Amino acid sequence: MSDSNAQQPARHEHMELFNRPCPICLSEKGSTLFAPSRVSPDQFNKDTFSARKIPEYMHFRLLKCRCCDLIYANPAPSDSQLLTLYTRAGFVSARESIFAGQTYSKYLPAIVSRLPDLKGALDVGTGDGAFLEHLVRYGFSSITGIEPSADSISKAKPAIRPLIKKGFFNPNDHGDEQYSLVSLFQTVEHLLCPMETTRAFFRILKKGGALFIAGHNFKALSSRLMRTRSPIFDVEHMQLFSKKSLFKMMKEAGFSDIKVDPMMNTYPLNYYAQLVPLPQRIKAPLMAVLTKTGLSKIAIPAYIGNLAAIGYKR
Ligand SMILES: [Zn+2]
Repeated sequence: MSDSNAQQPARHEHMELFNRPCPICLSEKGSTLFAPSRVSPDQFNKDTFSARKIPEYMHFRLLKCRCCDLIYANPAPSDSQLLTLYTRAGFVSARESIFAGQTYSKYLPAIVSRLPDLKGALDVGTGDGAFLEHLVRYGFSSITGIEPSADSISKAKPAIRPLIKKGFFNPNDHGDEQYSLVSLFQTVEHLLCPMETTRAFFRILKKGGALFIAGHNFKALSSRLMRTRSPIFDVEHMQLFSKKSLFKMMKEAGFSDIKVDPMMNTYPLNYYAQLVPLPQRIKAPLMAVLTKTGLSKIAIPAYIGNLAAIGYKR
């Protein structure tokens, strides 16, 4: 590591950043610079830490660990700074959240058939709780969602809102072998200590229980073509996984029968249009045309560089 910033807390105006080794192997030995920092703190707004927002192309300094095949932010903000940012984050994507919930629910029949029972399901980073509705529909009981954004929770349906706890996942709040299913969708990138958190998921799962993670794949064709203009290189993301790194993290946490595969998402056309790396002066009129013509609502299935990872506690 040659960058002196790595050792000392670096000021980013109102944000203090700390040195952070690879969050899987907890070492910097196999790490090299992937991309220098592109952060403008004056551009932060209430949507910067929101799910499925319009990309801002900001990211912290990114390193790549060759041993783990992981890209990660170093230096990075502290847990308490992140909690403050996410608590204030606005919820910007009700319709996309419904589509995402449907995509994830398609995996439930195969998972449910292997679970010991349907008592205890935890969805971390649940947003407006769109996936919790599917868990109810599949017959799960003792369902809990965790979400830091007050705005997102306020958008949950009245029957779902009481199931959502506000804040970050805290391992101390959950007993051993309490859940049959733990899910985490587009959230694993946001965790400051993903290895430690995955070990905690293993502890709180019952024997035979499943961990289901959906996340971005930095090795997907779209990411490789767009490089750091890909919307996955974002200031919210503390790390980005590949098939190899997601597998490694789950394996080291103790999971068995792990499968990591590309995920087919279905989103309305305007969601894809948001992600295209074009300047706002071109993108804004394009979005307006799509909305005016009704084309924005057409649902299109596509591989957009997401991975579904499922593992079981034997
Ligand atoms: Zn590593």
